[in-house]
Formats: sequence, C-alpha cells, structure tokens
Amino acid sequence: MTSSKSKLAANKKAESPDALLYSRSHDYPFLIQRWRAIAKSVGLRMRPFAKSGGYPVYYLESLSPQPNVPSIYLSGGIHGDEPASTEALLAWVANNSDLVQSLRILIFPCLNPWGLVHNKRCDEDNFDLNRGYRQKHPPVVKAQLDLLGRTRFNLAINLHEDYDGQGVYLYEPLRKKPHWGERIIEAMSTAIPVDPRKSIDGNKAKAGVIRRRITEDMMTDWPEAIALHLGYAKRTFTLETASEFGIEARVAAHVAGISAAIRLIE
Ligand SMILES: [Zn+2]
Repeated sequence: MTSSKSKLAANKKAESPDALLYSRSHDYPFLIQRWRAIAKSVGLRMRPFAKSGGYPVYYLESLSPQPNVPSIYLSGGIHGDEPASTEALLAWVANNSDLVQSLRILIFPCLNPWGLVHNKRCDEDNFDLNRGYRQKHPPVVKAQLDLLGRTRFNLAINLHEDYDGQGVYLYEPLRKKPHWGERIIEAMSTAIPVDPRKSIDGNKAKAGVIRRRITEDMMTDWPEAIALHLGYAKRTFTLETASEFGIEARVAAHVAGISAAIRLIE
C-alpha cells in the first residue's frame, strides 16, 4: 500500500458513522430527514405544528401508547448553537426503540431551526425562545403550548449546552424528596466530568446540581422549564453539557441523562 493510500485507510477508520453525521449537525433538513426514518422504524407520528424563521417546526408522538404508561416530554434545539441537544434526542430514540414503544412520548426535536442552521442562540428576530413561555411568544412557542393543551407529563427534559460550562450540570426544580438530580448527573458524568463550579449563572450549584424553588414571579420571562414545571410536568430537568467538549461526548452525556431520568420514574 502506498503511503497516501494507507493514510486514507487510517482516516476512514478514525471516522465513525456518528462522527460523519455530527459534521452535519447544523443541517436542519438532514436532521428532519433522519427523524422521518427513525419515526417510521420506532412507530412515532411526526408532524409540523408551526413555522419559525421560514422552517417547519415538528413534534413526534407515540402512535398508540398503552394506557397508564409514563408520559415523557423531551425537547432540544431551542438554542440553535447547542447541536448536541438535537443530536442526542435522535440518538436516544434510535438506541431505545423498545423503551420508546413502551412509553407515551412527545418530542420536540428542534424548536429553533433557524438558529440551528445559523448556529445562533436566538431566532431570526434575535429573540431567545427560551424566554417566551410566560407571554406565549413568538408564535412557535404559542403553538407549542397550544399543542400541549392540558397534557400532564411524568417527566419533562430540556436539553441545553453551555459554552461557558466546565462539565455537565443540571437544573432540578425543588420539590419534595426524593430528588433525582444526583443520579442523573452521575449517569451524565460517565461521558463528561461534572462541572465543579459552586455558582453557575448566579445559581448555587452542588456537584453539578442546581436545585431551586420555582415560583411564578421568579422571572418576568419564563424559560420552557418553568412553564413545564408550573403547568405540565411532575418532574422537569434541564440538562446542560459544556460546549467545548467533543460533540460525541456531549451527545453521550445527554443520552445517559435521559435514560437515567426515565429509569427513575416511579
Ligand atoms: Zn441553551
């Protein structure tokens, strides 16, 4: 083998299929194309529910869930510069088809397509969708909340990333014990170390867990997680990975976090 040929072979070996996919993690049509294929194979219904920045925004839901099975809400891509969130939802579903079929599931695979395509936190009007849940604005947020209606979830998980982060951490609204945060962080830390900071974004953090009391008036502009906690979900978690780690590790951390949380459902 000539040296250039062996170099090629070595490169090929180094590139896992996932790595090739992740190089297109800001390609929204490609993300949706992959979701269509997965949805079909695991039996999820996929539908658009709004338009944002010129792109259709989708949800996926269980086709015919058994009665009395746990209901799970998963969302990612509300901040377009956090691509491990959208990739992790896809990876989790792809790797857990049996589990997916045994639950009642609602997934928002990418709430801010324009942001994903342009690698921006905000939407095309420079609005942070994750501050629109009290005013139900812009229309994509209103359409999402309208879609939820009166649904109550056993568990809601929002996936995020933090360019400032030093590892994995999470937000868990304070409620009566048992708390789950430590168990979820432990699972996530198999992929990325726990963020060691004692204060994160002005919140007290302990070993990667930010647990705080959520009230209607704590913020004038609600993120998705506050709306979920106050109106829709028994337990709500916001999982964060540090953006400076490799995307494969970030995806693995989120996937581990989702799996750990679902295992904890009583
Ligand atoms: Zn975010």
